[in-house]
Amino acid sequence: MQETSSPRRLPGTVWFVGAGPGAPDLITVRGSRLLAQAGAILYTGSLVAETVLQWAAPTCEIADSKSLDHAQVTAWLLDRAQRHDTVVRLQTGDPTLYGVLAELARPLDAAGIPVGIVPGVSSAMAAAAAAGECLTLPEITQTVIFTRLSERTQMPERESFVSLAAHGCTLCIFLSIERIEAVVEQLGQAGWATDAPVVVVHKATWPDEERVLRGTLADIAAQCRAAQIDRQALILVSPALGARAQPALTPSKLYDAAFPRRFRPARPDTA
Ligand code: SAH
Repeated sequence: MQETSSPRRLPGTVWFVGAGPGAPDLITVRGSRLLAQAGAILYTGSLVAETVLQWAAPTCEIADSKSLDHAQVTAWLLDRAQRHDTVVRLQTGDPTLYGVLAELARPLDAAGIPVGIVPGVSSAMAAAAAAGECLTLPEITQTVIFTRLSERTQMPERESFVSLAAHGCTLCIFLSIERIEAVVEQLGQAGWATDAPVVVVHKATWPDEERVLRGTLADIAAQCRAAQIDRQALILVSPALGARAQPALTPSKLYDAAFPRRFRPARPDTA
């Protein structure tokens, strides 16, 4: 595709691309192809690992949105869409989670600029993988809640952290590491025991920077302070944590030889 840099009659497409959690090879193939095609890329420098930009063409205009306000980001995207066939807004993890995709897409929609979304590996998935953990476990927990503590962004009333945590299922807690003490306190209020396991993953998959802390409600806050982890970390709380070391695990029906599946009849010797 021929990229152009002078104003054109038809605007290009603005793609919201998930950069993945940090490691440059954890962007999707589709996302990296769009980076290679893009005439202009605007990335969130405070969170996206710059090594992901290695997939961009040498001629591509690359800008960091860290110091831009909302109106400036919008103006940048509107302007570049008039000049290039492919413009990328590169966001950390998956672009549909805890970003401002809807806010940024609205003025583009209003201007008639086509918008596309490419999913990414969320830091929730990356944190579980880094820690070698599963987020669901047969008969133990089959539900995962992605949430955060309320802070500047108010939580809807029906989604108070304590009421969500009271389900006892897996919690992937974003944007809350600065307030780990409050997380621990509210987990306690929700009924989690002080010896319940907690995993904190800082900069999951970032080459040479990833750190995994394992603790309990009782000691994880002190561990985080001691390790000076106060940003870009995901908190995992789950009855599934440590499953690989648990002696008595209920096996999943999926691979149970006695349990018939659509593509695999039950083995007669197990009936
Ligand atoms: N859209 C992103 C989340 C953006 S909100 C996603 O899908 O992952 C930013 C928060 O995400 C951070 O405060 C932190 O809680 C989490 N986060 C982002 N990247 C991370 C990483 N590499 N490791 C651990 N947590 C990360």
